[in-house]
Amino acid sequence: MFDLNNLIRDNIKTLKPYSSARHEFTGKASVFLDANENPYGSPLADKFNRYPDPLQWQLKFQLARIKGVPAENIFVGNGSDEVIDLAYRIFCTPEKDNVIVCPPTYGMYEVSGNINDVEIKKVNLTSDFQLDVEGVLSAIDSHTKLIFICSPNNPTGNNMHREDVEMILNNFSGIVIIDEAYINYSKQKTFIQELTEYPNLLVMQTLSKAWGLAALRLGLCYASIDIIDLFNKVKPPYNINDASQQLALEALEGTDLINKWITASVEQKEMVIKVVAVFNFVEKIYPSDANFFLMKVKDAFKLYNYLSENEVVVRNRSNYPGCDNCLRITIGTPEENKQLINLLKSYE
Ligand SMILES: *Cc1c(COP(=O)(O)O)cnc(C)c1O
Repeated sequence: MFDLNNLIRDNIKTLKPYSSARHEFTGKASVFLDANENPYGSPLADKFNRYPDPLQWQLKFQLARIKGVPAENIFVGNGSDEVIDLAYRIFCTPEKDNVIVCPPTYGMYEVSGNINDVEIKKVNLTSDFQLDVEGVLSAIDSHTKLIFICSPNNPTGNNMHREDVEMILNNFSGIVIIDEAYINYSKQKTFIQELTEYPNLLVMQTLSKAWGLAALRLGLCYASIDIIDLFNKVKPPYNINDASQQLALEALEGTDLINKWITASVEQKEMVIKVVAVFNFVEKIYPSDANFFLMKVKDAFKLYNYLSENEVVVRNRSNYPGCDNCLRITIGTPEENKQLINLLKSYE
């Protein structure tokens, strides 16, 4: 049923990828006169004058160790943004193919589709923000290449039911992209251990959220070796700069600290939700498995403006389907959360 070859765009199937200097030479060398670099060094303590490893092997080996997934099954993108864009460029022929997204969800899936001139089919989540599995399956046609599933979902915060995701994986012969940007905060198990089970599975994670490295732009993608090969073929040769590679390697030593912060964020979230839930202008707080929560209030615009006048910025998601009068609030430090709560206490 699943045939990767049938999914790839024709121009990508026949693409002869760029071959960099560091690609063409394998063996032992001490004098590198092959890439027109500055041999003296750089103003930055002789660092960064050489092109970086195009495939970021050190970083991938470290990720493999932490995640329990072979390094060959990992692709690193310049943020998840690049992973999403490459998925479109590898699989979707503009003006011909389509993808399915499930609003309310992360906006980049649609923006990236629009940039690539690929049709977006929308199948809204149910009223409790779960997948409309029947709706998704019946929206599939012979030109549907990708289905985006965000779990935990942004902006609603909840996990998608695992059986629903499995149902879609089992009944779609295109690529199912599961975006696990918030998985570190979730009680749900990651799908990255299921790659051998589902040849059509692509899981995205990121170092931008729990790992605290949003500024380095490192998006992770896990898939079969055949899919990873396609991403490597199409990506810009040096998509991850050496500063990001080195800093990420160093940061990945800090699992203990990150785990402490994850625990703290989850505890803080439960505390904030408990306090905020009793305010009379709060109509509903949606269950969250992430480091933020969505709440429905009487007048989201009024509350948003009140908070921003007091220098606290949240996200107004009122114009998303099913999110009338909803604000998305990120969990901050204990001090920041206290500030938010105090402001809400004196609201109205
Ligand atoms: C924040 C976020 C990302 C991360 O994007 P990066 O480009 O890796 O910073 C990905 N997906 C979702 C749903 C997010 O909310």
